[in-house]
Amino acid sequence: MLCGIIRIMNKFIIKHEEYIKRTYQLAKSAQEKGNHPFGALLVIDNKVVFTAENSVISDNDITRHAELNLVSKVTQELDPEALSQGILYTSTEPCAMCTGAIFWAGISNIVYGCSAVVLGEIAGGTFVVPCRDLLKYGKRQINVVGPVLEDQGAAIHRNFWKASE
Ligand SMILES: [Zn+2]
Repeated sequence: MLCGIIRIMNKFIIKHEEYIKRTYQLAKSAQEKGNHPFGALLVIDNKVVFTAENSVISDNDITRHAELNLVSKVTQELDPEALSQGILYTSTEPCAMCTGAIFWAGISNIVYGCSAVVLGEIAGGTFVVPCRDLLKYGKRQINVVGPVLEDQGAAIHRNFWKASE
């Protein structure tokens, strides 16, 4: 039993890095479209079922963060049982708005790349809320893993926010 648990955890550690790299690709794709560099995806049973990018500039809507775009899609397409088993991967720790949306969507697992604190240092954040702090108020437990491959995520932000100064 113990062996099985360790094996599963090891498998998840490898997968986390793989999927976080995909979110970084999505973040770069968002940037190429003139948006802010953030990407997110939902994994169920080791398969990517939905991906999303930030579209704040192209949609002219400040709520169009990658995670919120993802939550909008998945709550329309998937049932609550599937959502509760999904893992939401995001290139950067979800902000307060997106953390709320993830909670209300019934998603129970979050894995993020770059932390909110590091993003805040790079981009001059004015509302830096670690998602774990916010989720403490929830009556349902959400597992949070991160940061994962933070240097790679931070490099994307450094590149973008310095250039846009
Ligand atoms: Zn957000």
